[in-house]
Amino acid sequence: MGVETVGGLDPAGIDNDPIRHLETIFALAETHGRGIDIHLHDPGELGLWQIERIADFTQASGLAGKVMISHAFAHGMVPTAQIEKLGRRLADLRISLMTTAPADYSLPPVAFLKALGVNICCGSDGIRDAWSPFGNGDMLERALLLAQRFDWRKDDELASAFDSATTAGARALGLAGYGLAPGHAANFILLPAENLSDAIARRPHQRTVVSRGGSSRAMAAFLSRARRSKRDLCFQIRVAVIKSASPAMAPVAVTTNGLMSASARTSPSDALMSEKSARGARRLSFAGLPH
Ligand SMILES: [Zn+2]
Repeated sequence: MGVETVGGLDPAGIDNDPIRHLETIFALAETHGRGIDIHLHDPGELGLWQIERIADFTQASGLAGKVMISHAFAHGMVPTAQIEKLGRRLADLRISLMTTAPADYSLPPVAFLKALGVNICCGSDGIRDAWSPFGNGDMLERALLLAQRFDWRKDDELASAFDSATTAGARALGLAGYGLAPGHAANFILLPAENLSDAIARRPHQRTVVSRGGSSRAMAAFLSRARRSKRDLCFQIRVAVIKSASPAMAPVAVTTNGLMSASARTSPSDALMSEKSARGARRLSFAGLPH
């Protein structure tokens, strides 16, 4: 049927038969070689007990790295120390957690669980539907909501929020070739911002979406703007901010076949971006982005 992921929903709260629920969805996932996403609203001890059982089933099934628990509100309803052992288990089994960073409800203590190695990503959940009149699918905005929820303000905290809204999601989905790196598909967003924190704080609407290299016209328009302002940054769609801001990372270029390739430009003090011609092929390099 083309199903990519098997879904579960409150094995206790909805089905009232948590073990049978888990047996059923894990059997389906194993039989068809799929991952699992369990929407878990069940609160407190009942929720935590089910998360432990999900870990048991993941361990027994060999689906480590292919299971996600969405919401997992229960994690935020007990003293943090109480979930340390469970958090380590989730990390070991590479069970990801997804949060929408709700404004008025408990959520997993993201920094605490991330420090244990748990992969925590962000999701939009409903977008202007029966559950909420809000939402727009903008993951940059979701990073802001996560930061606001925990009162994160420092650059490293905002970077962590951005990681949850981008790279952590790709990790949970098992996407290969994600990230701005040579050989990866050139999928990213260009937007005017001074740095990552500025981008999250302002969430500029002016964005250029580049898919597999994009159109040269859109890229050229962005480049000429970037040259004038010297302030634009590259963001990848659903991926971390381009790390070219760090001198340690080799700059990459977008080639005409829509893939990233290593660029000859190495100096971070180079222009923000520049167009180069190499054997007739048009290349756009990403060297020297400002910090
Ligand atoms: Zn939901």
